[in-house]
Amino acid sequence: MSQRILVTGGTGYIGSNTAVELLSAGHEVEILDNLYNSKIEVLDEIEQITGKKPKFHQVDLLDEAGVTRVFKEGNFDAVIHFAGYKAVGESVDKPLEYYENNVTGTLHLLKAMRETGVKKIIFSSSATVYGVQESPEYVETMQTGGHLSNPYGRTKYFIEEILKDYSVADPEFQVCLLRYFNPVGAHPAGLLGDDPNGIPNNLMPFIMRVANGHLPELKIFGDDYPTEDGTCRRDYIHVVDLAKGHMAALDHLKPGVSIYNLGSGKPTSVKEIVTAFERARGEELPKSIAPRRSGDLPEFWANPAKAKAELNWQTELDIDDVMRDTLAYIAKHA
Ligand code: NAD
Ligand code: UDP
Repeated sequence: MSQRILVTGGTGYIGSNTAVELLSAGHEVEILDNLYNSKIEVLDEIEQITGKKPKFHQVDLLDEAGVTRVFKEGNFDAVIHFAGYKAVGESVDKPLEYYENNVTGTLHLLKAMRETGVKKIIFSSSATVYGVQESPEYVETMQTGGHLSNPYGRTKYFIEEILKDYSVADPEFQVCLLRYFNPVGAHPAGLLGDDPNGIPNNLMPFIMRVANGHLPELKIFGDDYPTEDGTCRRDYIHVVDLAKGHMAALDHLKPGVSIYNLGSGKPTSVKEIVTAFERARGEELPKSIAPRRSGDLPEFWANPAKAKAELNWQTELDIDDVMRDTLAYIAKHA
């Protein structure tokens, strides 16, 4: 059944790919974003792929009256909430900005939802809420919030807790917390890739900037970790698979709080990522080994069994698909 969905952060990387899946499935989509970390041209890319251009609200979540106005006009069935700051290192230097933007922004959203009777929300959480665990394979039943190394991760943890508290106060409220592992890749049309404003922190966007000559070389942060090739291992998930995870979550929303890992279940090392990129491109990437980056864990990955069992969702694309689509994106966005 077609629903009216408000996508916050919908001109961003994951939000825009999810908007494409929603529109392709026949849902009506409106986007709220302040364009802090995205570009208005993304709306044209969404239209190029789907033939539909979502209604766009350039509104900041910190503008409470503006957010409420969007809801009063919108008559939404559900919200998918991507908007937020996401740079781990920056959050250490600017904790107040991170708490204000991510937590206060979410409170404004929830108040507008309450005022207009919108009862469904899917929230972009992160594997970072698991902090440090004894096992590197993260399961939804593990305790969260302990040993978090940065304010960004704590904003995700706090927002999860706020949503749990709110669902107790309103038993009709339907919340899905999606804990993403490492989203990578782009839409196969070579559109809607991860192209942050400023110098990227994450591995794949950094590789992309080196490949198109905007940055001189990739620094591999540490090759002396206790892993097979000495570099850190993560669970990389193609952004289209991730977007489809939101569709599955929307279809299975129910009263109360549901929590799912969205990952492939398979770890890949930094060196394996670089090799896969070089293989796809047919050319070596300028790179060197640098010291470890503070706060990095040697390895972790998702146990995705719950999403498979309950949402009937699992990843379908692999690292080679990621590299093909990333190269297509680079070719179109030199
Ligand atoms: P992104 O930066 O591309 O998208 C976020 C969007 O939110 C941007 O378009 C930005 O302009 C907007 N935004 C930020 N603050 C806002 C505000 N106050 N009001 C309105 N709009 C605002 O990031 P992304 O990679 O697409 O991530 C989406 C969500 O997923 C974020 O919440 C992020 O924390 C979470 N997440 C991302 C990753 C990842 O590696 N990309 C991993 C786990 C979780
Ligand atoms: N990484 C790297 N060089 C970079 C950026 C990242 O070697 O320029 C490594 C980083 O140390 C980590 C992995 O790549 O082991 C994934 O990092 P990213 O920041 O993309 O994701 P996260 O730290 O959130 O897992």
